[in-house]
Amino acid sequence: MATATIADTPYAPTHPEIRDAVRALCLKFDGAYWRKLDRERGYPTEFVKALTEAGWLSILIPEEYGGAGLGISAASAVLEEIHRAGCNAAACHAQMYIMGTVLRHGSKDQKQRYLPKIASGEMRLQAFGVTEPSSGTDTLSLRTTAVKKNNSTYIVNGQKVWTSRAEHSDLMLLLARTTPKDQQAKAKRTEGLSVFLVDMRETLNKGLTIRSIRTMMNHNSTEVFFDNMEVPAENLIGEEGQGFRYILSGMNAERVLIASESIGDGRWFIEKAVNYAKERKLFGRPIGQNQGVQYPIARAYTQIEAADLMVRKAAALFEAGVNAGAEANIAKMLASEAAWACAEMCVQTHGGFGFAEEYDIERKFREARLYTVAPISTNMVLNFVAEHVLGLPRSY
Ligand SMILES: Cc1cc2nc3c(=O)[nH]c(=O)nc-3n(C[C@H](O)[C@H](O)[C@H](O)COP(=O)(O)OP(=O)(O)OC[C@H]3O[C@@H](n4cnc5c(N)ncnc54)[C@H](O)[C@@H]3O)c2cc1C
Repeated sequence: MATATIADTPYAPTHPEIRDAVRALCLKFDGAYWRKLDRERGYPTEFVKALTEAGWLSILIPEEYGGAGLGISAASAVLEEIHRAGCNAAACHAQMYIMGTVLRHGSKDQKQRYLPKIASGEMRLQAFGVTEPSSGTDTLSLRTTAVKKNNSTYIVNGQKVWTSRAEHSDLMLLLARTTPKDQQAKAKRTEGLSVFLVDMRETLNKGLTIRSIRTMMNHNSTEVFFDNMEVPAENLIGEEGQGFRYILSGMNAERVLIASESIGDGRWFIEKAVNYAKERKLFGRPIGQNQGVQYPIARAYTQIEAADLMVRKAAALFEAGVNAGAEANIAKMLASEAAWACAEMCVQTHGGFGFAEEYDIERKFREARLYTVAPISTNMVLNFVAEHVLGLPRSY
């Protein structure tokens, strides 16, 4: 079995002091704040500003570039608490981890140019252009091209979809094809894609068009179109042709962090359900006195607790520098499914009021649903486990 384990650090720390501070910040952004944004499909500018000023979004950036230099478990604590408080970090969570690609694979100059500004919030790097309409999960089939015009410029053509927060970001991390697929040697299937930092302030309406996509929940997602968009060659990250590898290397962090949001969502649903089940009295007693009401809540609780251990295990391995691919994927799958079970339970516990906007449950229900699909769907996690952990034949 390929699952990495380190017996002496099985679970990451929970960081109670970080949780207290984040929870205090979140109290200022109540249900009414999120309901209004949800109705208007607005961006939580004040919330993101507060998180930025408090330094929470730069927690993973090393101190030498102006961040807190903390590990993934600290970032997990921040995101879990945001979701546990009924808020939504989707508007800004990528500011935490997209920079990891620059940090790990960028040049010294790129790091010095971008990371301090990202840490201070002066520059937002929270748009991630990977998914395309025709290739979807099959990233190696993406069609957006970046062709070198001379030594100083790449010309980008193509389209991305589900590029979240593109309208609220200064920079986009873009994965594009630099070697045509038919010229790609079979043995080097994973090469031929490259990563660029696109300055959208310079390219918007000059080859770059952004259109928002209205979705089930308020997610500020967009589709982006590139029509002869120029990107300076100095904005290539790392080596040309190695982009897929660079993107993959950032995915474990993303999976652990999104899983933490799901844990937070699940705990929010459980707390709501427990309180309601105690307060709501029918037939002369609280509904929570009925086992038919208690069991789903208790079961959802057990699912979240188990998933949380997996998230903390993945975070511990990640922090120890061990390849946590299997654990990060498993954690993301279990946490998103547990959160969804909690969402379902919470609606049922509230009966008709679960559907009323003012209870926030229907909003969180829609928000929690996303994470069994994005950033990676359950089937693709199972594919990974089947092939890379269990050694079964690749099925696709
Ligand atoms: C709100 C939202 C925000 C997003 N934000 C971003 C973003 O910021 N940047 C970005 O790049 N992407 C983003 N995404 C894209 C997201 O990562 C993809 O939607 C997700 O990875 C699934 O890909 P897909 O939608 O193309 O589905 P497809 O790849 O078309 O798959 C459809 C279904 O088929 C299943 N399937 C496909 N192939 C197989 C197989 N071989 N075996 C078993 N099942 C299979 C999948 O599991 C899925 O259930 C976002 C998506 C959403 C909905």
